[in-house]
Amino acid sequence: MTHPISNGERDLRSAVLRGLRGRCPSCGQAALFGRFLKPVDHCPACGQRWSGHQADDMPAYLVVLALGHILVPLLVATNMRFDPPMWLEMLMWPGLALILALLLIQPAKGAVIGFQWARRMHGFAGGR
Ligand SMILES: [Zn+2]
Repeated sequence: MTHPISNGERDLRSAVLRGLRGRCPSCGQAALFGRFLKPVDHCPACGQRWSGHQADDMPAYLVVLALGHILVPLLVATNMRFDPPMWLEMLMWPGLALILALLLIQPAKGAVIGFQWARRMHGFAGGR
């Protein structure tokens, strides 16, 4: 059975967690993304359509929020403990921010799509 919950309820927690892992929020059986940030048109396992999502800027907003909370304390702690030369800091922090942003943006988008699907927002209203 590909739909563990068939009474119309959609479990928010499992949908968000599946989206975070890049899996179909509905069934968890197939990949949510065809390309880096482009969800598949529909899930090959359960048939759920993903074109109705409207994640928009929310994933990027979440990534910026998370990066601030990760990088600022790290930057302060590093500068209190060590005294890195300015050229190193100017390479290290933007580089680290870029790498972390690239690592976090797809899981963030998956989670947002999972959230919208579970709450039947936007194109996920009604039907399946
Ligand atoms: Zn699916």
